[in-house]
Amino acid sequence: MSTQFVRQPNPHPATDEVRNAVLANPGFGVHFTDNMISIDWTGDVEKGTGQWDNPRLEAYGPIALDPSAAVFHYGQEIFEGLKAYRHQDGSVWSFRPEANAARLNRSAERLALPALPEDTFVDAVRELVSTDEKWVPSGDGESLYVRPFMIATEPFLGVRPSRQARFSVIASPAGNYFGTVEPVDIWLSRTYARAGKGGTGSAKCGGNYAASLIAQMEGDAHGCSQVLFLDHERDDAVEELGGMNVFFVFKNGRVVTPELTGTILEGVTRRSIIELAKERGLQVEERRFTLDEWREGKASGELTEVFACGTAAVIAPVRRLVSHDEVIGSEDDQPGEVTMSLRQQLLDIQTGRAEDTHGWLTRL
Ligand code: PMP
Repeated sequence: MSTQFVRQPNPHPATDEVRNAVLANPGFGVHFTDNMISIDWTGDVEKGTGQWDNPRLEAYGPIALDPSAAVFHYGQEIFEGLKAYRHQDGSVWSFRPEANAARLNRSAERLALPALPEDTFVDAVRELVSTDEKWVPSGDGESLYVRPFMIATEPFLGVRPSRQARFSVIASPAGNYFGTVEPVDIWLSRTYARAGKGGTGSAKCGGNYAASLIAQMEGDAHGCSQVLFLDHERDDAVEELGGMNVFFVFKNGRVVTPELTGTILEGVTRRSIIELAKERGLQVEERRFTLDEWREGKASGELTEVFACGTAAVIAPVRRLVSHDEVIGSEDDQPGEVTMSLRQQLLDIQTGRAEDTHGWLTRL
């Protein structure tokens, strides 16, 4: 049975005029829809007990929490990111939301937060998006970005797993993330890592992003929109970007992406691209990929394309890797054919222009 939400929708939703003004120029993550979802949990993850209660839809607005709530002190927080797309017939769909639900639970386990039933996750996304359906844009490359998150709410300063938590979902109309398909330059962080062996790299927790910001600032200062993190302990193996996974395309139909070692996030986009690439007969290798291989591949011409992928940008061609002492790639590098055709294929599935033969879409 689907989750029954107590519905107390916003009595003062945005007027058509205000909402249309936002939708004319949504940007990313700055405007929010009229409502939000919350569900509260009490229990004890150490004992494996607990219960989710009071699922509700209410006006988007500030959350009142005790200043002693665990999330403010020990960072027990996880989140997800997925999109709702409007199809040509007006219907609204999301892409593999059950994969996000499963990943939220993997993150929850690592951060000693409670698991949320996957159906409840999808029900919560559907309840919010269907209520705030008018906020789903219909322009090319536009979508409603959905942000589920879970925080530790127990007012207690002891360092142990919180015995209270809240799961919430908010949503924000999103324009075309990187604008047109301009290739991006990436900053190579030599100083900072975002994750280490045994750490939280494969979880989607706020702390990982807090740790990446200083490197992001370094990148910004050098005109790069994303940062590449390396595993310095493993021969400078390539890990991922601050918010995207990376792929390398070779001349002979080989596609390489860093393996999941516990230090990188398993992207839903990454997983989908691996499937699509295999179906095309490309040879996909999930393995260690070093900076040396990138450098040598570029120099020999064997490495023809590099791209980054994630929910926000879908697929972004990578032009140059920039660091203090070297640049790999050239300013003239144009987006490659494999990059652009995989991007188009994925976008076509998400936006309903191609048949969903994989069963990846869920109607909201
Ligand atoms: N790596 C990191 C660190 C991310 O934040 C994201 C975005 N969630 C990704 C990879 C890509 O994941 P997805 O394809 O699920 O958006």
